[in-house]
Amino acid sequence: MRDSDGYATDPALLPAVPAGLRRVLDLVVSGEATSRAEIARRSGLARSTVGQQVDHLVAGGILQEIEAQKSVRGRPPRVLTLGPQAGTIAVADVDALASRVAIADLTGRILAQDIADVRVDAGPEAVLGAVSERLLHLLERTGRGPDRVRQVVVGLPGPVDFQRGCAVRPNGMPGWDGYPAVEFLSERFRAPALVDNDANLMALGEAVQEQGDTPLLCIKIGTGIGAGFVSATGEVYRGADGAAGDVGHIRAAGGSDALCTCGNVGCVRALASHRAVLQQLGIPESTDEDPLHGEHELVRRVANNDPHAVRALRQAATEIGELLAMLVYVFNPRRLVLGGPLSELGDDLLSGVRAVVYQRALPLATRDLTITTTQLGSGSALHGAIALATRDVFSATGIARMLADDVEDVPVGS
Ligand SMILES: [Zn+2]
Repeated sequence: MRDSDGYATDPALLPAVPAGLRRVLDLVVSGEATSRAEIARRSGLARSTVGQQVDHLVAGGILQEIEAQKSVRGRPPRVLTLGPQAGTIAVADVDALASRVAIADLTGRILAQDIADVRVDAGPEAVLGAVSERLLHLLERTGRGPDRVRQVVVGLPGPVDFQRGCAVRPNGMPGWDGYPAVEFLSERFRAPALVDNDANLMALGEAVQEQGDTPLLCIKIGTGIGAGFVSATGEVYRGADGAAGDVGHIRAAGGSDALCTCGNVGCVRALASHRAVLQQLGIPESTDEDPLHGEHELVRRVANNDPHAVRALRQAATEIGELLAMLVYVFNPRRLVLGGPLSELGDDLLSGVRAVVYQRALPLATRDLTITTTQLGSGSALHGAIALATRDVFSATGIARMLADDVEDVPVGS
């Protein structure tokens, strides 16, 4: 059942999961039902079937049944929740100057988070090594064993081949092209792993937060400019090669001979990214004391109404607005979300982008379109990573894998 890494990798080798069991688990994880009677009522399954499946999940340590604290007269009701041994999810959002990492339980609640100070241009082994080390440290701090990680998801700031599990010709990321990031992570955590583009994860994080507000287009304005698109059915659109949303290299409407990292001139990334704005203002991106110096300094200058900073920000807003107006034509989203450090600079960016999009795009496409900055701030990609992970953990394969694990491991403390 297990390969040399210690976890079951081949779905074909896993036992089939009864539909009833999956339904029972779904209802408990979503919080829709917390007792056997409620599960039977909501699922329409026979009480004996529910009992059988609950017993199976409790015996495997995935669910636990505890007595409710507030007891009415007579026997206190028994409540079903995910067991502490059910496992955890480890996620990271790798960015140009540092990476955010977090541990969550299987309901998606963040248990602990931290930052790994490592630049993406240090190369995949250094970055993934530092990220893994921080994650293992967080697991230890929260008292969760490294052997109970069910899924690892890492966002990367460049095009990602989702199927192969690696970055593909990313800009400014030496050594990452084709590097087997997923293999590195699954070996380190002995669990299935996924890598995805960071803007895709941001879009998913925002879409999960505001359910029903899809299709959703999220644009990350950071070192580069990337877009993520979530369809009305909640699926991330990745394109044929994972390059969908790599919009920073579209030629800026304003035209310019600014040289881009890709070798072309006039890319919107070279004019309107956070990095480009810092360069225009002569602000160093990072210093020895503060790896995020540029971010902090720009916030300070904009807050003080420094005219040069405000002007640079408005110019960037116009360029980004032109780009988004075009994307609105292509995708017709219900919601447009601006993320990344430039989006955290208050209303100048947002109002500039809105002005251009509402002026340029057709009334039909903008009639019910809302344009906002991210609701989740710098954590939105982590939330998207958690959402992607829980989908996999509670897929038929994920559940089968969990059950197979628990048959072979003696559940601890139960
Ligand atoms: Zn370019």
